[in-house]
Amino acid sequence: MRKFLAIVLLLVLPATLLAKAPGSKTLEIYYVDVEGGAATLIVTPAGESILVDTGWPGFEGRDAKRIQAAMKQAGITQIDHLIITHYHVDHFGGAPELAKLIPVKNHYNHGELPSPPENAAQPKQYADYYAATNNKTITVKPGDSIKLRTMKGTPPVTLRFLAARAETLPGKTREANPACADAKQLPEDKSDNARSVVFKLSYGAFDFFDAGDLTWNIESKLVCPSNVIGKVDLYQVTHHGMDISNNPVLLKSVEPTVAIMNNGPRKGGSANTVKWLRELPSLQALYQVHRNITTTDDQNTAPEYIANLDDKTSEMIWVSVDAAKKTFTVTNGRTKVSKSYSIK
Ligand SMILES: [Zn+2]
Repeated sequence: MRKFLAIVLLLVLPATLLAKAPGSKTLEIYYVDVEGGAATLIVTPAGESILVDTGWPGFEGRDAKRIQAAMKQAGITQIDHLIITHYHVDHFGGAPELAKLIPVKNHYNHGELPSPPENAAQPKQYADYYAATNNKTITVKPGDSIKLRTMKGTPPVTLRFLAARAETLPGKTREANPACADAKQLPEDKSDNARSVVFKLSYGAFDFFDAGDLTWNIESKLVCPSNVIGKVDLYQVTHHGMDISNNPVLLKSVEPTVAIMNNGPRKGGSANTVKWLRELPSLQALYQVHRNITTTDDQNTAPEYIANLDDKTSEMIWVSVDAAKKTFTVTNGRTKVSKSYSIK
């Protein structure tokens, strides 16, 4: 019996070591490698889960399986809240395959598919996604929030939407933002990127900003004439690091401490975006899920901050936020090296 127990313990132990203890005091954020798509998994101290985007469909369910692996590491078995930022296939395409693998309780998006569709494939992709929600979704508007459970002995976790369907939270009554003096506009982006759902998640003094694939002019509206985002600790580099997003006026206004980019080996990771981020006095580290193999070493962050150096691996980057210690720790899944940063 003892021998049997020892074997059982041995089998259970590695998973237990990886899994988050129930009622842990940290908030976790996982960047799943979905090869140039987006999938950000957030697990609160109370064990409630929020998934932001689902990666691509196809490749034999590759992205859904990678999300499931991240959930296993996080010690969770269902998604409580699935936020789809916008209707591009690298964000919502994986939702039907994911819904077949695991239970997803609540679905959030910016509303019906705008008409006319952007391409011939989009209506079918949307129909498949909508069917996977059991025809029940919640349309979010700027100012809405998701009510999340609080773990006893920890500060509340709040998730507040700041933009959706190209509408932003009004900021007229707040103080003017001096960074807006050099703000430039680009021609209007009529794609669904501009309609991305945008939110800020806070845990104690920690603030995390995720804007999906939001583009330049709406980014500007979030910080000009006044900054409705505030300052953030962690910035999810918008739109896989493309330079029609990551408007420097927004970057300078939110003053991130750490930025994490979910790019692919050949998608996103623009040299301009890397440059703009590096120029921020506030920035202590830029992480990339992939090295952009189409640009030079100088145009990528240092290898120690990159989870996948080529297109052969699929390592994650994850973040653990300790509100009591006022720190957050970022781990590169490839090197297993963790670095801690102070919360503002
Ligand atoms: Zn995208």
